[in-house]
Amino acid sequence: MSVEPVVSSPLGRRRPAHEKDVEALEFIEEMTRNCDSVQERVLGEILSGNSDTEYLQRFQLGGKTDRDTFKAKVPVVTYEDLKPEIQRIANGDRSKILSSRPISEFLTSSGTSAGERKLMPTIEEEWNRRQLLYSLLMPVMNLYVPDLDKGKALYFLFVKAETKTPGGLLARPVLTGYYKSDHFKTRPYDPFNVYTSPNEAILCPDTFQSMYAQMLCGLIMHHKVLRVGAVFASGLIRAIRFLQVNWKLLAHDIETGTLNPRIADPSIRRCMEESLRPDQGLAEFIRTQCEGEAWEGIITRIWPNTKYLDVIVTGAMAQYIPTLDYYSRGLPLACTMYASSECYFGLNLNPICKPSEVSYTIMPNMGYFEFTPHDPQVPAYPSLDLPPRMVDLANVEVGKEYELIVTTYSGLCRYRVGDILRVTGFHNSAPQFRFVRRRNVLLSIDSDKTDEAELQGAVERALRLLRESNTSVVEYTSYADTATIPGHYVIYWELLGKDKENGPSHEVLDQCCLAMEESLNSVYRQCRVTDNSIGPLEIRVVKNGSFEELMDYAISRGASINQYKVPRCVSLGPIVELLDSRVVSAHFSPRAPSWTPERRH
Ligand code: AMP
Repeated sequence: MSVEPVVSSPLGRRRPAHEKDVEALEFIEEMTRNCDSVQERVLGEILSGNSDTEYLQRFQLGGKTDRDTFKAKVPVVTYEDLKPEIQRIANGDRSKILSSRPISEFLTSSGTSAGERKLMPTIEEEWNRRQLLYSLLMPVMNLYVPDLDKGKALYFLFVKAETKTPGGLLARPVLTGYYKSDHFKTRPYDPFNVYTSPNEAILCPDTFQSMYAQMLCGLIMHHKVLRVGAVFASGLIRAIRFLQVNWKLLAHDIETGTLNPRIADPSIRRCMEESLRPDQGLAEFIRTQCEGEAWEGIITRIWPNTKYLDVIVTGAMAQYIPTLDYYSRGLPLACTMYASSECYFGLNLNPICKPSEVSYTIMPNMGYFEFTPHDPQVPAYPSLDLPPRMVDLANVEVGKEYELIVTTYSGLCRYRVGDILRVTGFHNSAPQFRFVRRRNVLLSIDSDKTDEAELQGAVERALRLLRESNTSVVEYTSYADTATIPGHYVIYWELLGKDKENGPSHEVLDQCCLAMEESLNSVYRQCRVTDNSIGPLEIRVVKNGSFEELMDYAISRGASINQYKVPRCVSLGPIVELLDSRVVSAHFSPRAPSWTPERRH
């Protein structure tokens, strides 16, 4: 039902689509109009709430909760700095170390430390704050896309493995925690947020069964689907790939009204058996759409009423935009929010804009935010004696880049998130940010993030296998190849054999691929093993002299010969083409690396 708005929304002077959206839109206005005072209040609440923690006591704030005292006394930290405290909490120390409130669980980040997911302590009340941010998304979307209450959302949502820390606290990804919470499981009916996927399918830990059931429901309700999505672009591409591989089985189930026996989860079987009816016409339709090689527009062909795709395509996910455009014939791509395990940050107030124009408005009520100016030429943290210059949320400048620092209600103080953001403008007094990149990430296909040191470590591990053949790697670089589905890491190697007759065999080079994978972090290995969202790592051996040609190319484009360093990752088309044209042999991991939910450290 559409009603006369109580307020006109300054969000583009659009009218709220629905009476119940008014409150959310007013809340956004109130928070963004009072950005600085909200930030001051948030910091005050965090510091007074956590004043008796061991961590804050260490800095002797003397009961003060103002910004100047906080900035003068509390240091900016990384995860490595907090590791001893986090380890104590993980081991079962329940004293007030970082937070006065009990740590309810650890959220496992896709950022890693020593090869394992970082553990972010969180408290129960944080779920309310996250839920609040989620509750703002549809009121904003309804301003731009009408009638989303007339159909359903086909979202591919998954839970991942959970573990317990030695002290008995749960450790799991934030979305797994959210989908298992009552906020999600027993959410009240909202006509604007009706999913085709039943909770039973979303909550099934077996990826195949979960995906199969979600896809089957999406196909059965194909005419009702108004938006198709996943959290990240890579997840939606994985779902389309799944359809490509499994459409015959799915069509069979639809034709016969029976559920594939591979779907053994009793709760999925129970709920699917209620909704599955033989439908010969739909089965035929799916077969006609899916057979053949041409999958252009498959999303719009199967789900013809789709208005937009709801997926994050900013940051590392931008590499998937052409593939999504191909599958959807250029439907709008909506990036609705920006969040992390540490803290949910904000939302996109213009979600139907082009991917290249996406800006996120950080909501000042979510945490206390500071920014270090980021200039690649100037180190942000020059020395321990010279504290970095920090800027408050309301004081950042349009056009400048910053690294995000967060202080959370859960007890992280001045924590470096690792994201680089550029200010694009303001909504009221709240700045809006383009996501530029994550600090120190070289390669990423899905949620994996591999940095230069990890890649170097992986190459070194593989090198041990070359010793017998007296061969070394003269130079290497890498490339995230997303032309294949799933995408995979490609490592270009230029080899130097001391003994020309006795070079490494194909088999040894295949084993080198596996050795590299074994050395990569646990998020990478989990994507390879349980999600199949990354394909086998490939080594492409290039001709001798190829890296010199790469240098010549860079110099011809203006690089300084004195400062030239081999890039450890390449992405520019001409450079990848140059390397590919010099490939003498290609090698793949013969099997998936090892991965278990248990942490190695
Ligand atoms: P995690 O800690 O695994 O939850 O990952 C959080 C990180 O994912 C953030 O710090 C960002 O680097 C990235 N991220 C989250 N949302 C977005 C977004 N909308 N666009 C680009 N990157 C994002």
